[in-house]
Amino acid sequence: MKTLRLILGDQLNANHTWLQQPDPEVTYFMCEMRQETDYAVHHVQKVLAFFVAMRRFADQLTQQGHQITYYRLDDPLNRQDLIQNIEQLIESGPYEAFGYQQPDEYRLDVQLKEWCARQSITIEQEDTQHFLTTRTDWSTHFKDKKTYTMEFFYRAMRKKTGYLMTPTGQPEGGIWNFDGENRKSWNGNPAIPEGPVFQPEIEQILSMIKDHGVKTMGHPPQLGRFLWATSRSEALLLLDHFVTHLLPNFGRYQDAMHPEEPLLFHSRLSFCLNTKMISPQEVVEAAIQAWKNEPQRVELAQVEGFVRQIIGWREYVRGFYWAHMPGYSDLNYFDHQNPLPDFYWTAKTQMACVQSSLQHTLDNAYAHHIERLMVTGNLALLLGVAPKAIESWYLGVYIDALEWVEMPNTLGMSQFVDGGKLATKPYISSANYLHKMGKSCSGCRYNPKERLGPDACPFNALYWRFLAVHRPLLGQKERMRMMYALWDKIPQDEQQLLIERGEAIIEQPDLY
Ligand SMILES: Cc1cc2nc3c(=O)[nH]c(=O)nc-3n(C[C@H](O)[C@H](O)[C@H](O)COP(=O)(O)OP(=O)(O)OC[C@H]3O[C@@H](n4cnc5c(N)ncnc54)[C@H](O)[C@@H]3O)c2cc1C
Ligand code: SF4
Repeated sequence: MKTLRLILGDQLNANHTWLQQPDPEVTYFMCEMRQETDYAVHHVQKVLAFFVAMRRFADQLTQQGHQITYYRLDDPLNRQDLIQNIEQLIESGPYEAFGYQQPDEYRLDVQLKEWCARQSITIEQEDTQHFLTTRTDWSTHFKDKKTYTMEFFYRAMRKKTGYLMTPTGQPEGGIWNFDGENRKSWNGNPAIPEGPVFQPEIEQILSMIKDHGVKTMGHPPQLGRFLWATSRSEALLLLDHFVTHLLPNFGRYQDAMHPEEPLLFHSRLSFCLNTKMISPQEVVEAAIQAWKNEPQRVELAQVEGFVRQIIGWREYVRGFYWAHMPGYSDLNYFDHQNPLPDFYWTAKTQMACVQSSLQHTLDNAYAHHIERLMVTGNLALLLGVAPKAIESWYLGVYIDALEWVEMPNTLGMSQFVDGGKLATKPYISSANYLHKMGKSCSGCRYNPKERLGPDACPFNALYWRFLAVHRPLLGQKERMRMMYALWDKIPQDEQQLLIERGEAIIEQPDLY
């Protein structure tokens, strides 16, 4: 049966069963489209990385003998809309069957399902064969449970996969989680080994997206220094570099921040994982193998920290997303309505930690987890930014941003929109935490130790004001008790001044 099969830009899984043998009856369709470049304002490196990776993947399939129809953005046949492109191709085939892999984003899932329901040709729907769990495993796991703690989901995943489990079914090392050992700041030692950088052909794509008026943000890569793997072989190089050189310190410095080191000991694997160029299994198994080979050099605590991110958090947020869509994007527990400050788009702020996290973001389409959570996310929450405004910024700006993973992280973990389903308390902090985990304060115009006065770090007044204003919502939460006990120790007149300073910063954040 003459079949057209769709491969989306984040479905670059060369090991998919679809692709094991070329089939003369099957044509694969891939397309660059305005539908995808325009649903958020994306970082220019994100658009580049997707288009380069898609083109390379299509070339590889062609070399293997598969039939491919690939529309570049400037292809005259390209209707720039997924459904219109598919309809046009099916007519011109004509094809008797259409196949697609389950999309990971809700909007695409709905778009394809609705269209397929109206068709009379045969429809094949396939799994992407990438994740360790199905879309519904999260809901099954938490059925009848009152809380949705990631830790218990993670333990179930350890048992299910057997990763880091002893033959008698116990966690390796006797405990499930070594997070307590993973809280060090980084002072320049140990040195961070130089990792691979790539040199994909980007000139033609850059001018193509410019000529087409695609709106982007951020900076193009420095010449010959693209940080993002855009083929499976490059992804495997990154993985090898990570397990050999970075993993021995991964967990220990996972929460550290440094203005001159945007990557620290992080893996840079999220883009190749999210586009499915590599699988979660091979990534986790490479890390575990490194520990088994050299347990003295690659300690269990470091490996466990990494495995938890992949089989724990990554699978958890995906399941959480499918369990809460649609509707999750409309939640707004604190009823925050403020606009996102202009400096999120320019990095022009006097707050040094914010400046460097935003600079990393605009330069590389990347900031590591703690910069996303405790700097830009924390600040947006303390400023009362509307969740949709900050969510659409995160969706565009990061190389790895696909809604299934970005939305639960941004709205649930970072902005607490669900009032405590994904996170048990809001991730907020004053300058104290940022000073302890980062190295920006010494070069900052503000003083992290001061609460009031023109030199006081803005995070301090914002933090205390947030606690005061949201006490009716947060005051009864067990995990907030210590924070409120500290607030209650501050003299009342100072409390009032802190609230006023916090309000003043919220009024005009771009002055700070
Ligand atoms: C506000 C906010 C928004 C985020 N948006 C995204 C996003 O759009 N896409 C995305 O992939 N991650 C997102 N994350 C999670 C995390 O920050 C990134 O996965 C990580 O920074 C990617 O860099 P890395 O590959 O060097 O990660 P490493 O630190 O090396 O971690 C290894 C891998 O673990 C996985 N991982 C780690 N933490 C998480 C997490 N919380 N959720 C899911 N997977 C995780 C990623 O696949 C990552 O590649 C977000 C976090 C926050 C706080
Ligand atoms: S003083 Fe405050 S704003 Fe400045 S770097 Fe430190 S935490 Fe950030």
